[in-house]
Amino acid sequence: MASGVELERGLDLTRVIGAYRGEAAGPSLVCVGSIHGNEPSGADALKRVFETLEARGLTVRGEVVGLTGNLRALSKGVRFLAKDLNRHWTPARVAMMSAGRMPTDPDSEDVEQSELLGVLTDAFGRARGDVSFLDLHTTSALGGPFLVIGDTLRNRRFAMGIPAPIILGLEERLGGTLPEYVNGLGHVTVGFEAGQHDDPRSVDIHEAGVWLAMVNAGIIDEADVPEAGAYRSLITEASKGVPRVLELSHHHRIKQSDGFRMAPEIPNFSVIRSGQRLATDKRGDITSPVTGLLLLPLYQGQGNDGYFLARGINPFWLTVSSWLRRMRLDRFVHWLPGVRRRVDDFNTVEVDDHVARWLVVQVFHLLGFRQLSHREGQWVFARREHDDFVS
Ligand SMILES: [Zn+2]
Repeated sequence: MASGVELERGLDLTRVIGAYRGEAAGPSLVCVGSIHGNEPSGADALKRVFETLEARGLTVRGEVVGLTGNLRALSKGVRFLAKDLNRHWTPARVAMMSAGRMPTDPDSEDVEQSELLGVLTDAFGRARGDVSFLDLHTTSALGGPFLVIGDTLRNRRFAMGIPAPIILGLEERLGGTLPEYVNGLGHVTVGFEAGQHDDPRSVDIHEAGVWLAMVNAGIIDEADVPEAGAYRSLITEASKGVPRVLELSHHHRIKQSDGFRMAPEIPNFSVIRSGQRLATDKRGDITSPVTGLLLLPLYQGQGNDGYFLARGINPFWLTVSSWLRRMRLDRFVHWLPGVRRRVDDFNTVEVDDHVARWLVVQVFHLLGFRQLSHREGQWVFARREHDDFVS
C-alpha cells in the first residue's frame, strides 16, 4: 500500500486500519483519520476502536471502516508534503483518478489521494445500507472538540448524536474537502475536531465520538457499548460553556507571503471583542472586525486560513429552517427582489446585493443553500443536494 515510500513513524501505519463487518446487513460508517499528517489522533483512535471490536468480538450490523488519510505525511509528522490532501477532492480530479489516470509528475498527495479514493470507493461500493462518514481532525490551538457539517437535515441529525458544538458555514469556506466530495455522493458526513494535535485527550475524544457514531447509525447496540455514557460525559464536559450550534461570522484568509503570526495561545472558542488584536502580518496588527468566538487560529506553519470567528445561534432557528425546507420554500426564492436563478441550473441562484439588503446569507442558509461566492456586488448560492430528511 505504501508504494515504495518509506514510512518513518513506525511500521504500524496502514491505509486500512480496520474493516469490521457484520453478518447482518445494515448501515456503513466510514471513518478517515489523519488526512492531515500532523494530526495522529484520528488514526490512533481508530486503532483503539478496532482493537476493542476484535477483542470483544462484538456483533454489528453493516460495517465500520477505519482508514488512514495521509500515510506519508503522518509518517513524517507534517500536515502535508506537497499540498493539503483535504483541499483537492474536486469533481474533475476525482473523475480523473477514478478512471485510473494521474496528474503528470504526481506528488506525494496525488498518490495518497488516488490510494485513499480506491479504498473509499471499495468501502462505499460494498455498503449494504445507508453510509455515514466521519472525518477526524485536531487543531493547532488548544480547546475543546467541535463538529463541522454541511447544513443538511441528515447531517444535522447525525451530528446531534455526538454532544459537541456544531459549526455551520465553515465547510463552505473550504473548497475541495474530502467530506464535500463524500457528501456529493449522497452520504451523511461530519467533520470531527477533537482538540489540540498532541493532547492525549484528543485521542480519547475521537475514540468516544466513533463509538457514539456507531450507536447513532444503528451499527451497534448501545447495550454492547458499556462506556457509552462515559463517552457522552467526556465530550459534554470538554464542550462546557460553548453554544451547541454556531455559525461562521468571519474568515481571515492568508497567503504564505503575508507573514501571518497569530497572537500566542488563544484557545478555540475564546471570546473575542470587535477591535481586539489577534495577529500580525507584514502590514502590521490584525484586529477582529466583529465580536465572536475564535475558531481554528493558525499555530502551525502550513495552511491558508489565519483564523475564523463564529457566533452561537438559537436552536429555534434550526427548527424554523427544517420546517422551511420540508415545505420546499427554496423553490420560490427567485420571486424575491434581486434574486434570479441561473438559466442552466435551477438549483443555483444569483443575488444582487444592491437590491437585496436584508439578511441575505442567513435567509439562504435557512432555506438550505450553500454560499458559493460573493464578489462584485453579487452573491451566488446553490441549493444543497441530498437535503432530504431521513427519520
Ligand atoms: Zn485537520
